[in-house]
Amino acid sequence: MSFTVAIDGPAAAGKGTISRAVAAHFGFGHLDTGLLYRAVGALGGDPVAAAKTLRPEDLQRGDLRTLEAGQAASRVAVIPEVRAALRDFQRTFALRQGGAVLDGRDIGTVICPEAEVKLFVTASAEVRAHRRWRELGGDEADVLAQVVERDRRDMDRADSPLRPAKDAVVIDTTDMTIDQAVAAALAAVQRVYSAR
Ligand code: C5P
Repeated sequence: MSFTVAIDGPAAAGKGTISRAVAAHFGFGHLDTGLLYRAVGALGGDPVAAAKTLRPEDLQRGDLRTLEAGQAASRVAVIPEVRAALRDFQRTFALRQGGAVLDGRDIGTVICPEAEVKLFVTASAEVRAHRRWRELGGDEADVLAQVVERDRRDMDRADSPLRPAKDAVVIDTTDMTIDQAVAAALAAVQRVYSAR
C-alpha cells in the first residue's frame, strides 16, 4: 500500500537530510525532486524539451549540486510547461507500493495534496546560507545573496510557488541540531503512520 510523506521548504533548510532519514527509518523510497529541476537546468537548450525527455542518467551528473546548478534550476522551475512535464513522474513515485518520501517546493501543495504527512522544513536565511557555505565554500556573503535570490524566485513565481500547505507541520531548524530536526520529523510521521 502507498503512504506519501511530502517535505517542502527553502534551500538548505535540512529537507534532504530529514527526507533521507525518514525514508531509511520507515523503509520508504525517496525522491529528491530538486534534482529533476537541476538536471533540466544543467542540460541547457530548450528546458521544456529537456524536461519532456529527461532520463534517469541525467540525474547522475556530477555537477548538479553546485550553487550555479541551483540557480539554473530555479530559473527553469518558473516555466509551467517544465513543471507539467515533470508532474506525472513525481505523482507515480509518490504512490509507489511500500511508501514514498518526496522533497521539494510544491509537493504538499500541488504534486501530492493528498499526502498522508506534510512537513514544511524551514530556517532563517542566514543559518541556511551558513550551512550551504560550510558545504560548498566560497564567499559567505555571496552564498547568502544567492540563497535570498533563489527564495524570492521560488516564492514569487505564479505556478506552484513555495509555501507551506495549510495542513503542513512546520519544523523550523534554525536553532536545532540535525538530530533534533530528524527526531521532530520522525515523530510527526510516526503519529500518522501508527494511527493508520
Ligand atoms: O531542492 P533544490 O535546492 O535542489 O531545488 C533546486 C530548485 O529547483 C529550487 O530552488 C526550485 O526552484 C526548484 N524546485 C521546484 N520544485 C520542486 C523542487 C525544486 O521548483 N519540487
